[in-house]
Amino acid sequence: MRVISCIVTEHNLWLVLLAALMCVTGCWVTIGLLDRARKTVGVQMRGWLFLTAVAAGSSVWCTHFIAMLAYQPGAPITFDPALTMISLVIAMVGTGAGFGLALGKGRGLAPEWGGCAVGLAISAMHYTGMMAYHVAGIVEWDAFYVIASVLIAMAFSSVAVGHATRRPYRWSHYVGIGLLVLAIVGLHFTAMAAVAVTPLSFITTGTNPDILEAMAVAVAVVGLIVAATGFASYLIDERGRLESFERLQHLALNDALTGLANRVSFNDRLDHEIERAREDQGTMTAVIVIDLDRFKEINDLRGHAAGDQALKIIARRLAKLAGDGEFVARLGGDEFAAIKRFKDQNDLLGLVSRLEKSLFEPLRIDDFETVTGASIGVAVYPRDGADRERLVSNADLAMYRAKNDVTRAVCFYESAMDETARARRALATDLRQAIDRGELSLHYQVQTSVQTGATCGYEALLRWTHPVHGMVPPAEFIPIAEENGSILSIGEWVLRTACRQAASWDNGHKIAVNLSPVQFAHANLATLVHQILVETGLSPKRLELELTESTIVADKVRTLHVLRQIKALGVTIAIDDFGTGYSSLDTLRSFPFDKIKLDRSFMADVERSPQAKAIIRAVLTLGRSLDIPVLAEGVETHVQLTILQVEGCNEAQGYFLGRPKPIDQIVLIGGPDGQDGPPAFEAPARMRAAAGWRSPP
Ligand code: C2E
Ligand code: MG
Ligand code: MG
Repeated sequence: MRVISCIVTEHNLWLVLLAALMCVTGCWVTIGLLDRARKTVGVQMRGWLFLTAVAAGSSVWCTHFIAMLAYQPGAPITFDPALTMISLVIAMVGTGAGFGLALGKGRGLAPEWGGCAVGLAISAMHYTGMMAYHVAGIVEWDAFYVIASVLIAMAFSSVAVGHATRRPYRWSHYVGIGLLVLAIVGLHFTAMAAVAVTPLSFITTGTNPDILEAMAVAVAVVGLIVAATGFASYLIDERGRLESFERLQHLALNDALTGLANRVSFNDRLDHEIERAREDQGTMTAVIVIDLDRFKEINDLRGHAAGDQALKIIARRLAKLAGDGEFVARLGGDEFAAIKRFKDQNDLLGLVSRLEKSLFEPLRIDDFETVTGASIGVAVYPRDGADRERLVSNADLAMYRAKNDVTRAVCFYESAMDETARARRALATDLRQAIDRGELSLHYQVQTSVQTGATCGYEALLRWTHPVHGMVPPAEFIPIAEENGSILSIGEWVLRTACRQAASWDNGHKIAVNLSPVQFAHANLATLVHQILVETGLSPKRLELELTESTIVADKVRTLHVLRQIKALGVTIAIDDFGTGYSSLDTLRSFPFDKIKLDRSFMADVERSPQAKAIIRAVLTLGRSLDIPVLAEGVETHVQLTILQVEGCNEAQGYFLGRPKPIDQIVLIGGPDGQDGPPAFEAPARMRAAAGWRSPP
């Protein structure tokens, strides 16, 4: 057994400590940099690998050098400068290669093999350094210790790099640092045990210990600077990463357009507030859901930039009025939400009225001013729901109720709303099976020439006979069908049934079929219309499709494209409920419609209101100038019909002329051969006489 021939004196003790400091700092920086290299790829990874190699090589080398200066063999020593520098290069290049191997492709045992290479590089550096270390004495080597030292370095480095790159445990990073320190220290002490120096007593000249000490300090300082440089770049990178992380976090939690909190943060905050209210007796939490009423109008009429501006202004207002215990967020589109912690109901009412006031204040965008208005729904924890999902869904229900009620902008959740929603859901489920169960049917309402009283055609109107609720009006179930998509199959059924029915009439009357906006958005409508015409054998010019202005506004480009395709088939297109939309004139300009159907609301007032009469007159004039026939809907009285005759309206439809009826209840007059023929104009003779119409030939 060899004894390390090092005499520990006060002089070299602090050098040993300095070497230890160098070693630990170096390993710490090295493993940190290696970790950064591990997380990057390409040029970045190579850059970090270079820094890792420089930090590892220089710190190992410095540790060795300082330790050698601390080693006092009892004989004068000198250093071979060339070999000393070569040992530094070996340390850097060798460890660099080892770390590179550890992070290389293919992985498998690569980290361990790479670690072995690092251990080998440290050993090579040590023994080259020893060759540079000239001592005035007889130097003997013990092969056993030499081999053991190399194996120790390789084994510890291998496990160290394995841990540092694989990270099997939470503390692996620190285990990696510790093992690398052990690899260096283990190598050094075992290697020093391998060497025995017998001083040659006649040689007394050598390097002055003070100079050696100064060298040690200089080397340590340079080594620490190198390590610190590596560490600084690590810190700079860490800061950059932290900043990008914070930026990403901000993006993830805030709405990009308005900067308000987004749905994710809203959910988090609401969970937190519910938790707080649960623990604190008497505290309640309100969820306030806000949906803008006329935002779509701004978008459609003024463009998306104006829409964005409106959202920003509203967001700024909402953010400004949120006080302590209040939180506002944009959930998406034109939907906002607020959370309010409160004990006194009046505080909640205060916030709601401030919200309402600010949402109904005019917005100034560029050169125009508008008011979007909003529908507001409120649900309160714990009264209206025990968890986030329930609360938000109940606040939504309340908001929808406010939306459907023209007299109120704010609605508080009431349990009766649940009933309505449940009934609606049940209706939606039943509706899906309505076609298969044969519960749907068509009623037909006659369309008549105002001047001659001749039948021009029929409008097919959908009816649903529910097995329990009986007749459900289309105004109730069509929105549900549009919401759940069943309007696609229902609409197809209506079109096919109406065309088949009309194809069986041989008097050439037209059949008008209503189309939903959803059919334009989803189905390949033109192909479907074509298919059905071919299948039923109905002439395209006998089919008229009715759509409302809102269908065009929903997606103008797409709708107009589909309309052109349908028109190319020879099918005519009527604009339904004309005058109820907000862009009627623009709609007329955008497409060559074949008929204008004037909404029945104008007819209802025409006898009393000169304004309604003026509007009818204006629309008729418009129709004449654009060469589009006008049909007046909702004609219920003789007086109304006479007004239309005087004003020169083309066609009319309404209870006075005929209610919508199943096909078998429509008066059939003989066809050309006296057999059952097509349905014909069915207004009683009394009405016909009153209207001054002549009997059809
Ligand atoms: P619409 O297309 O404007 O249909 C005219 C509506 O006015 C029908 O209501 C009709 O019964 C009613 N009506 C006709 N004459 C008079 C009258 O003199 N006075 C009054 N007060 N009302 C009259 P209905 O059948 O309840 O249909 C309502 C709406 O449901 C239709 O309005 C249409 O938009 C929609 N609809 C009906 N069938 C279908 C369909 O097959 N597909 C689609 N997408 N919508 C349909
Ligand atoms: Mg219609
Ligand atoms: Mg209509």
